[in-house]
Amino acid sequence: MYRSIALFVISVASFFSATAQSRQAAAGPTDAVSRPKLVVGIVIDQMRWDYLYRYYDRYGGGGFKRLIKEGFTCENTMINYLPSYTAVGHTCIFTGSVPAISGISSNNWTEQLSGQTVYCTEDSTVRAVGANTNGGKMSPRNLLVSTVTDELRLATNYQSRVVGVSLKDRASILPAGHTANAAFWFDDGSGSFITSTYYMQQLPGWVEKYNIGHPAEKLVAHGWNTLYPIETYHSSDSDDQLYEGRFPGETSSSFPHKIDEVYKQQKGSLRATPFGNSLTLDFARMVVQGYRLGRGKAPDFLTINCASTDYVGHMYGPNSIEAEDTYLRLDRDLAAFFQFLDAKVGKGQYLVFLSADHGAAHAIGYSQEHGIPADYWGPGGLVDSLNKILAARFGIENLVRSGMNYQINFDMGKIYGYRLDFDAIKKKTVEYCQQQPGITYAVDMARIGEAPIPEPIKTMIINGYNFKRSGAVQLVLNAGWFEAEGKTGTTHGSWNPYDTHIPLLFMGWGIRHGSTNAVVNMTDIAPTIASLLHIQMPSGCIGRPILAVTER
Ligand SMILES: [Zn+2]
Repeated sequence: MYRSIALFVISVASFFSATAQSRQAAAGPTDAVSRPKLVVGIVIDQMRWDYLYRYYDRYGGGGFKRLIKEGFTCENTMINYLPSYTAVGHTCIFTGSVPAISGISSNNWTEQLSGQTVYCTEDSTVRAVGANTNGGKMSPRNLLVSTVTDELRLATNYQSRVVGVSLKDRASILPAGHTANAAFWFDDGSGSFITSTYYMQQLPGWVEKYNIGHPAEKLVAHGWNTLYPIETYHSSDSDDQLYEGRFPGETSSSFPHKIDEVYKQQKGSLRATPFGNSLTLDFARMVVQGYRLGRGKAPDFLTINCASTDYVGHMYGPNSIEAEDTYLRLDRDLAAFFQFLDAKVGKGQYLVFLSADHGAAHAIGYSQEHGIPADYWGPGGLVDSLNKILAARFGIENLVRSGMNYQINFDMGKIYGYRLDFDAIKKKTVEYCQQQPGITYAVDMARIGEAPIPEPIKTMIINGYNFKRSGAVQLVLNAGWFEAEGKTGTTHGSWNPYDTHIPLLFMGWGIRHGSTNAVVNMTDIAPTIASLLHIQMPSGCIGRPILAVTER
């Protein structure tokens, strides 16, 4: 009797609770996952971490200073692979992965078996949309892992919209991932933003309209002079330096740069001016409006790369007035962009993070002038000598194909075809390279575990070694040395802090104010974003969430 009453009570109770549940289901969930309306990932190409403070006093309140004062800054964020090049950096930030796994081993690499040179985002199966150019035969197909932007699309059943924007194809395509709604980049021939048939068959009407307005031409119309009186640029070297590059037709490297005239001959010249960043952020505003980003049910993701900082850096080096002026103007452009997001999406409703794909060395001319060890290096002579030595020992000509990305690429067809002793070839190569001036280490990638190389270089080499897409011997140059063709400007690609210590700042939705000096890695950015969004980490992610950012 008691048992049947008890059963009756239980069944009545479960009837009421089931009714309550179905009522709740009809009304929709009352306790939904908390996510921002929009995520904006901004990558400043070639931005060394120290630029935050080198120009700090001259920044306004709404750009870099706003990120530092309102947001959270990870002061010691390090790239943890080699080589520190553009495509790899953008890939790592948005995948949490490294060349060994992501497949993006450099901007260009040699397929080890075929010897074919591949550009990171080339894809002959697609074509340009918006211009008649080979520069549109691009897609993310060479990327072997998912991005955090892909994971957001997967997590929300494709309700989230993802768009990439950059002057550079690779810096737009790789962050936006495989499932992006769109990626746009700048076409030098037409001076307009284009995409490829990977994403769409025709540009949206508002992009076509934007291009017809010739926005780039308007931005360069007054040439490039300094934003403030030139004598106030105390953070930089004096203007006319032999280590600075020149635009075509210029007789000196000094301000003012008649970029309005240069642009008429060469639209790509826009890239090496601060106006390339202005154009990118202006177009990003159009994208937010055109795709109604931040207005849907699920969070959207916009990836932006400001690439002009890289082109300016390559041409003039970090100690130039041109570099300083570019950052001061970028700071203003960022401030305006954040204000736009405040108005369109709502302050505190969007999550923004800012980082860099790599840093840069001081220009060699500048370093040498100040007694700091630095020098030029080229692989050409080394490859010729190696081929002579290896031919004498193994009886086969041209066993070395190239010295790309600070790696020695061997002709694997010959090595397998003639059944040569590859270990012996690599041993001879390492012995010879180690003796050359400017080379600190040469190491057989397959034997890196037993090589007497200190951390973090050892792990960076392991992370950077993709068996199919990297040369089999890695070279590490002396600090301050880098591969260069001319004696002007600078570059990046090495393990050293000047190339690998990058800014990392978060601001907005879910971010408290603060900073940490703990060392974190570039591979930690994607899992941190994934944690904040409550979505899965990307498929090749080896990083860990930065707890100082994610914990409340
Ligand atoms: Zn670069």
